[in-house]
Amino acid sequence: MDHDCIIVGGGPVGLALAAALAPTGRRIAVVERQDRSTLADPQEDGRYIALTHRSIAFLSQLGAWDRIDPAQRSPLREAQVLNGTSPFALQFDPGAAGEGWLGQLVSNHLIRRALFDVVAGQPNVELLTGASVEQLATDRRAARVTLADGRLLTGQLLVGADSRFSTVREALGIVAQVNRLGRSMLLARVAHEGEHHAVATEWFGHGHTIAMLPLTGRRSSAVVTLPDGEVAAMAALPPAELGAQIAQLYGHRLGAMTVEAGPHVYPLATTYAAHFAATRAALLGDAAVGMHPVTAHGFNLGLQGVATLSGLIGQTRGDWGSSLLLRRFEAAHRLATRPLYEATNLLVGLYADESLPARLARHATLRVGARLPLARRAVARMLMQP
Ligand SMILES: Cc1cc2nc3c(=O)[nH]c(=O)nc-3n(C[C@H](O)[C@H](O)[C@H](O)COP(=O)(O)OP(=O)(O)OC[C@H]3O[C@@H](n4cnc5c(N)ncnc54)[C@H](O)[C@@H]3O)c2cc1C
Repeated sequence: MDHDCIIVGGGPVGLALAAALAPTGRRIAVVERQDRSTLADPQEDGRYIALTHRSIAFLSQLGAWDRIDPAQRSPLREAQVLNGTSPFALQFDPGAAGEGWLGQLVSNHLIRRALFDVVAGQPNVELLTGASVEQLATDRRAARVTLADGRLLTGQLLVGADSRFSTVREALGIVAQVNRLGRSMLLARVAHEGEHHAVATEWFGHGHTIAMLPLTGRRSSAVVTLPDGEVAAMAALPPAELGAQIAQLYGHRLGAMTVEAGPHVYPLATTYAAHFAATRAALLGDAAVGMHPVTAHGFNLGLQGVATLSGLIGQTRGDWGSSLLLRRFEAAHRLATRPLYEATNLLVGLYADESLPARLARHATLRVGARLPLARRAVARMLMQP
């Protein structure tokens, strides 16, 4: 076999796995369809990732965190959930445990760039960029990947980290729940008049949801969720009108807004694979679990999967594709992801429902939640952990 591990997908999760396995000194290949220059210098894609304390610690361990300019990291002190015109807000703060912050917001492209820089310097990691997979198969002896240019890679372990519509998952015959939600997210970085005080808000209005993620200075990442049919018209607005519309949807709480970057549009779909492991193969990141972004856990859980798989690999001196190792990975990662996946979908269902009972239930949840500091602390801890 020419490799110990073949990773398909050089997104943030695939690169994080390559970085985590590199110190073993064994041979790792990353197959990525984008070309090397795009991977080395990814452009802003509008996503700001709320990294938990645990993710930051893991990125530090991989050598990626220090490659992100501190001026580009935005601390998140508190999160608030608002419902329609209700005066009750659910507040989540880190309590004594969180060093004063829930997490840090970092642009996705900077995370990708930092991880690429770590991986590009590793002599035992082969980055096969501009490459697409023509065929793949695994059996008890080996994983085999044939690239479109005819090259054949063989390895002990194949990892699919190729997004929520994973072709590796499909080729392995692993089915997944795929829920297309009929809604899209419009993302824009805005400058505004008011101070956000490092507080993120998720405001469930009627017919739309707007989140404001606080960035350094008087700037935020605005995230507007709309039915698919309405998002194109909003994305086509000239920047000045888009800024005015976002300010209006946000009830002018931060004053006038100017669009600095974007908009970017993401149709919403959640996915959950029926299995995270097969013969000599594992799924990681969105290929395993495609979370709804509302609870900001997708990448955090992806990193947790990387930590679990690389930890198990670190404990073995032998075969990285052994079925015992893969069964352990599957069990641990399912336990870590399933409750959060279900809880997030429940929240999305409750807040996307415009019927009167659902609106009353939301109102009641916020009123009760506002009086339960212990429950709020528990949720805050949960938000900080993955
Ligand atoms: C609007 C939005 C906001 C988000 N906010 C947060 C947040 O606050 N916190 C958080 O934790 N997560 C967040 N997420 C989720 C996070 O962005 C994803 O979980 C993360 O990007 C998943 O990384 P990945 O590497 O698994 O997949 P991807 O980022 O999808 O990367 C997959 C890679 O595989 C490559 N690829 C695909 N198919 C092939 C193929 N056949 N051959 C070769 N290469 C292939 C692609 O080119 C790509 O580079 C958010 C997501 C969205 C959409």
